[in-house]
Amino acid sequence: MTTLPPLTREHCAVLDVQDPLAALRNEFLLPSGVIYLDGNSLGARPKSSLQRAQEVISQEWGQDLITSWNKAGWFQMPSTLGDQLAPLVGADAGEIVVTDTTSVNLFKAIAAALHIQSASPERNTIITERSNFPTDIYMAEGITRWLDRGYRIHLIDSPEDLPVAVNAQTALVMLTHVNYRTGYLHDMAAVTALAHRHGALMLWDLAHSAGAVPVALNAAEADFAVGCTYKYLNGGPGAPAFIWVPQRHQAIFQHPLSGWWGHANPFAMQPGFEPVAGVRRALCGTQPIVSLALVGCGLEVFGKTDMHAIRSKSLALTDLFIRLVEQRCQQHALELVTPRAHAQRGSQVSLRHPHAYAVIQALIRRGVIGDYREPAIMRFGFTPLYIGFTDVWDAAEAMRDILDSQDYDANEQRHAVT
Ligand SMILES: *Cc1c(COP(=O)(O)O)cnc(C)c1O
Repeated sequence: MTTLPPLTREHCAVLDVQDPLAALRNEFLLPSGVIYLDGNSLGARPKSSLQRAQEVISQEWGQDLITSWNKAGWFQMPSTLGDQLAPLVGADAGEIVVTDTTSVNLFKAIAAALHIQSASPERNTIITERSNFPTDIYMAEGITRWLDRGYRIHLIDSPEDLPVAVNAQTALVMLTHVNYRTGYLHDMAAVTALAHRHGALMLWDLAHSAGAVPVALNAAEADFAVGCTYKYLNGGPGAPAFIWVPQRHQAIFQHPLSGWWGHANPFAMQPGFEPVAGVRRALCGTQPIVSLALVGCGLEVFGKTDMHAIRSKSLALTDLFIRLVEQRCQQHALELVTPRAHAQRGSQVSLRHPHAYAVIQALIRRGVIGDYREPAIMRFGFTPLYIGFTDVWDAAEAMRDILDSQDYDANEQRHAVT
């Protein structure tokens, strides 16, 4: 390995001056004295969201009342936001709705996939990773248990196990594109092609991809996708999630949550469910409009750049952090969990340390906000829209100082949310 020259804070300041995305930080409200490395869990607040919330509450709700379903576009909002989000994930207009939670959208997508595969009863397996975000596995467990048709869930322990695991019994491969804990990034096109070679359907969870890495759902010929808007897309706490159903599957997309918003003619108020044509059949009931409206504020910021600019800065930030940790913290027991290869890395860096929870709490006390994930992992998300290169330097220095001086409490009590 070549030894890279030691970096300085001045070097990072030069990178900030040269950063083409630097101006976008001004689109966000961040408290002073805070370096926010947790945008992968809850994105920062776009400045415009306060005014948007005021507009929805005072004008659209307060003054225009029920007319806003039409006049303010409330009824169409899951689709208008879906169309705005589509280019970020390589989807076409009319293929995404913003609605419900990621967990609920997983339920619909898994149910639809199993329904499509039900003509082949020998396909009785859903493949996912043991290290997947638990709710994804829980939702698959819930559906298969409730269907009671002998489906099994096969948990693989490494992406390398996929070629052996996928076979003629596989109904569905369900993966999270970027692993929430390690930051491992799957090759979407290659894994989708593998699933299809065996006649399986492919469902991607984009919770840590949408707004973080370029995604090309249609180019990869994926079957279904879901994702969050409150992480890298900065939609706000609990903002509705999204679901993608490509054009070619919309006519056969059926799920059990057949509520009136997915009906062909909801205001006919007739018994008998008949799904609407298109992706709106993935809707169920009335949307949380105040929260939904704020998703647009996050998406507007993405309209001022593109995913390739975001990706190059994201890799530069994570490369810098890894290099600083390796140059300046090498005497400490830190282990890099995130892949070094760019092709396998999302927009985060995860480090293992025996006192990971205590070190994260010490960092938070110094204004450097990352988070802790079991087992013994410190997780740092790098969001190129509002994190700069000197922030990375300052965060790494804070960690070096905490480790050098052992300025953490190894018996730190766990909070409910880590
Ligand atoms: C964050 C996350 C979720 C969250 O699901 P909710 O239903 O919104 O709570 C689901 N899956 C993955 C992979 C996630 O990272």
